[in-house]
Amino acid sequence: MTRAGKKEEMKPSDRQPLAQGESGRRANFVRQLIDADIAAGRNGGAVHTRFPPEPNGYLHIGHAKSICLNFGLARDLGGKCNLRFDDTNPVKEEDEYVRAIEEDVRWLGFDWEDRLYYASDYFEQLYQWAVQLIEAGKAYVDDLSADEIRAYRGTLTEPGRESPCRGREVAENLDLFRRMRAGEFPDGAKVLRARIDMASGNLNMRDPVLYRILHASHHRTGDSWCIYPMYDWAHGQSDSIERITHSVCTLEFEDHRPLYDWCLDALGAHHPRQIEFARLNLTHTVLSKRKLLRLVEEKHVSGWDDPRMPTLSGMRRRGYSAAAIRDFCERIGVAKVNSTVDIALLEHCLREDLNRRAPRFMAVLRPLKVVLENYPAGQVEELEAVNNPEDAGAGTRRIPFSRELYVEATDFEEDPPKKFFRLGPGREVRLRYGYFITCVDAVKDTSGRVIELRCTYDRETRGGQAPDGRKVRGTIHWLSAAHARRAEVRLYDHLFTRPDPDAAAGQGDFLLNLNPGSVEVLKDCRVEPGLVALAPGLTCQFERQGYFCQDSVDSTPEALAFNRTATLRDTWAKIEKKGRSQHGS
Ligand code: ATP
Ligand code: MG
Repeated sequence: MTRAGKKEEMKPSDRQPLAQGESGRRANFVRQLIDADIAAGRNGGAVHTRFPPEPNGYLHIGHAKSICLNFGLARDLGGKCNLRFDDTNPVKEEDEYVRAIEEDVRWLGFDWEDRLYYASDYFEQLYQWAVQLIEAGKAYVDDLSADEIRAYRGTLTEPGRESPCRGREVAENLDLFRRMRAGEFPDGAKVLRARIDMASGNLNMRDPVLYRILHASHHRTGDSWCIYPMYDWAHGQSDSIERITHSVCTLEFEDHRPLYDWCLDALGAHHPRQIEFARLNLTHTVLSKRKLLRLVEEKHVSGWDDPRMPTLSGMRRRGYSAAAIRDFCERIGVAKVNSTVDIALLEHCLREDLNRRAPRFMAVLRPLKVVLENYPAGQVEELEAVNNPEDAGAGTRRIPFSRELYVEATDFEEDPPKKFFRLGPGREVRLRYGYFITCVDAVKDTSGRVIELRCTYDRETRGGQAPDGRKVRGTIHWLSAAHARRAEVRLYDHLFTRPDPDAAAGQGDFLLNLNPGSVEVLKDCRVEPGLVALAPGLTCQFERQGYFCQDSVDSTPEALAFNRTATLRDTWAKIEKKGRSQHGS
């Protein structure tokens, strides 16, 4: 029985004023519960948490929330946090996922030190504990098939029925369980079940399956086992073995807590305190591994690390910084009720971080040639450009200027509308860090398309000021044609058109809401030559265009490829402003 939780949109006005924790961080309810445990001297005042992924997919932004919470609590409270793989399903788990998860947790800025564990390390202990339950008359081997077990389980309104095998003697159960392990039975022939209560109001307590037969190789234990513990049997006991003090998990585990308690009581083992919090949902995004796997397998994206994916590897490739993701996780806080966070808030956190740190460059995405008729052919001069106006320490760089330039095709209008302060016939603009130029002619091809602008420059305006005090309204970016480097640029947008991708018209399939325009590839862009030396993974700002980074997979010095991390438009700031004015604060 899973609990869907109430879904609510989080509006800016719903957000609570920030309550500051000791370390200046927001104090959430999980932190408050743990603080109270420390104050009461429980567990000797110790805090030991864990992040327990199943290695059956890549980590996503929802997992980041859990990682920041678990590792953050340990960090803030002088405790420890383990990384543990709950690897109980050999069919869906792979080493590739294990490696990717480790890399992602590290990249996010957290360290499990020497505490890397696997539930599969505990298989023998879990088996012995199952034997202990059987001996105590609290578990039995059942011959019912999976379908029959489901049918016998009953519903929320109907009690379940007892299996004919429920009354088996201890000795027979012990013998059958031993033979299950020895490989005497085929997959699905038998299971081990806890003997709890087929009439319980909580479906998880209706004699849940603890072990199943699965003749499958495990990514770590190979063929040593042909029975595997169910997640619910392994998870709680693994926490107990690791002496976890606080098992922080998402709301759907609330209804599993009585089962975990029952098992630990039956075994007389250490009880962690389980605290459930609301999982993260994001607009325009799916965060279920099953759905993300479908996107990958059905090739709607190029892989788990496609820059449009909400996976940490996808976001990293897209140009997100770990700091921005941590900041986002801090700001959304931790609640007891499920809600959906506007993806604009995530992008806002990203822009705030990048605005402070990202070096600025010029790039022309849709090049239009400009020839400065009065600039000497063959002359090249170097102009000084500011690397980051937000950071005086970032210094300046020199960029080449010459007779032939590229400007953005969208910065020219043959018949400029009102308030278009860029180039048009007879119009004067400022070139960023350069000169004033005036358009004297537009050269067209036979189809009437503008393919080149003829302009003049005013040599007195170097650096962007006219000695006669003459003003121009527009400043545009540009590149020296001979010096610019060719590059491919990918403009990314949300992967799903609807804020809630699961609310599909008709079919109910989230794939119907895929955004056909989630990527636009521009093949013939130009970028500053200095960008080539930029460390891969460093996100920069293309002035007036947005934030971009070199693609870590496809970009080479010979064939540059850039991903758009984010545009410069901050929709969240607008949402906030609207929220404030509506609420008179
Ligand atoms: P899915 O439901 O998508 O298959 P999962 O929850 O099964 O994901 P796990 O690998 O078991 O994936 O997750 C590891 C931990 O991360 C769990 O403790 C889980 O509660 C937490 N987690 C998963 N998704 C989210 C989310 N969207 N928000 C917060 N925490 C999450
Ligand atoms: Mg899970």
